[in-house]
Amino acid sequence: MSATEGSAAPRQAVLVEPRHFELRAAPQAHPGPGEILLQVRCALSCGTDLKFYRRGHPLFSFPMPFGHEFSGVAAEVGAGVDTFKPGDELMAAPTAPCGRCFFCEREQENLCVQVIDTMVMGAYADFLLLPAHVVARNAFKKPADLPFEEAALLEPLACVVHAQAIAQPRKSETCMIVGAGAFGLLHLLLLKAAGVKRVAVAGRGEARLRWAAQMGADWVIDARREDVAGKAAALNGGYGPDLVIEATGQVSGWETALASARRGGRVMFFGGCAAGTSIQLDTRRMHYDSLTLLAPFHYRPLDVRRARDLLADRKLGAGRIINQRRRLSELPQVFDMLEGGDVLKCAIIP
Ligand SMILES: [Zn+2]
Ligand SMILES: [Zn+2]
Repeated sequence: MSATEGSAAPRQAVLVEPRHFELRAAPQAHPGPGEILLQVRCALSCGTDLKFYRRGHPLFSFPMPFGHEFSGVAAEVGAGVDTFKPGDELMAAPTAPCGRCFFCEREQENLCVQVIDTMVMGAYADFLLLPAHVVARNAFKKPADLPFEEAALLEPLACVVHAQAIAQPRKSETCMIVGAGAFGLLHLLLLKAAGVKRVAVAGRGEARLRWAAQMGADWVIDARREDVAGKAAALNGGYGPDLVIEATGQVSGWETALASARRGGRVMFFGGCAAGTSIQLDTRRMHYDSLTLLAPFHYRPLDVRRARDLLADRKLGAGRIINQRRRLSELPQVFDMLEGGDVLKCAIIP
């Protein structure tokens, strides 16, 4: 952390190399046409941030601004912005598609050629500039009764909404989630809100399994002590789960998920693994057990709108995913805590 803490200059956390943050004084930005300068009220930690923190990212170079889940207040709006005004409380996703490319034309905006390159990073800061394409498509007024920290769940929830739109869980199905982190538990909350009666969660650590049970899991499986695929095979009258959602982003999680689905079932690989990794596929099981494999990535604007509606509605209780709160100046400790594993999401308040 630099010596700018406590001074009047706006602060911006940058990752200068793996595992090393600096809180720097940032020049006061002003929004250009279509843009909004957001005064950040809350940013959330994310598993993706932890990956960047450990090893950087091929698309971003050091020093990199950091943090992509946020909510705040419009401090200044640029020319041509007529849907928002200064003082509005906002929630937004950090990306938006171009609407014109090959993928956008095929309603696969999650794969838009610009969607990741133009991602907003830098929410661990006092101010954040929202680019015009995000303001135009994926920014919304925050309902007054929705806390800023819950509003900041828009992006992770949009990923989960997109994935479940692809997997199409039915109420009568037995589902299993592999991974009891923030994403696994958001999947659980969404399945339960959709009326899915039987959901098992496999995860590591007593605290996480306890939270899963509190959030509605019908069974919890301790992945450290129990044979997850063996336990899964006993579910659903001995056939195994109809739908398995992988939410660890680890090769072992992918393998477990693949091994756990019933004959004729669906496996959804939700968590992205490190580049260069692969899993074995038993072609006989794939074919004769007639498995359906799904691998959704990111989200489309319609998923963001659905996530916004779910958060505004408050019935999901998604705020339960946020179980720590820290100041921006405490960011290094936040990442130490995330590595410890007992934090689902930490709200970082400037
Ligand atoms: Zn995220
Ligand atoms: Zn596009």
